[in-house]
Amino acid sequence: MPEETRTIGYICPVCGQAVIASRTAFQLAAGDSTLPCPCGKSELGFHQLGDRCEVTAPCLFCAKDHRAVCGNDALLRKSLLALSCPASGLGTCYIGEEGQVFRAMEKLEAAVDKLRLDEQADQRGAFLDETVMAEVLGELKDIAARGGVRCACGSADYGVKVGYSSVDLTCARCGATLRLSAATPDDLDDLCVRDTLIIPGRKESTL
Ligand SMILES: [Zn+2]
Ligand SMILES: [Zn+2]
Ligand SMILES: [Zn+2]
Repeated sequence: MPEETRTIGYICPVCGQAVIASRTAFQLAAGDSTLPCPCGKSELGFHQLGDRCEVTAPCLFCAKDHRAVCGNDALLRKSLLALSCPASGLGTCYIGEEGQVFRAMEKLEAAVDKLRLDEQADQRGAFLDETVMAEVLGELKDIAARGGVRCACGSADYGVKVGYSSVDLTCARCGATLRLSAATPDDLDDLCVRDTLIIPGRKESTL
């Protein structure tokens, strides 16, 4: 009978890569072992306590290790053993059958990607240039106040959507969009010389 292998996976908090390896059940049960990341800066640790095993897993979220004790029965036989961070609920490591571990790791990587994007969004300001955006919106209000915004389809109803470095005017009737750039002082100068803003309009609606 071929020896049972266990797949083990975690994400290295230092370099961010998914580390997946396999160990035989015998290797895991035989004594203390580690699963290092190829970058050498983090590792998963297994410390055998007889019928139980203490697993030390680095946590991406807390930037420190979490320790969990699990029964050797689960460690060596459960189809998927998942350890997670008590603070964030994010998985810290998965041990089990190959397919199950790969699927769990994919989900974890997706969750981590999302987390990183959220962090970037928090770090950057709401706008590329706050001053330019404020002035562009002010100018837009002036133009709108004198009835200078309309759509080529004939509608004067529109919605305003403020983005990171631009403002979109969307026609309420045909859905066409005019994008005003609000990234640099030049964009503001361009807007200031305009009396009217014409949303291009959708061809289909003019037919
Ligand atoms: Zn690493
Ligand atoms: Zn944690
Ligand atoms: Zn329109």
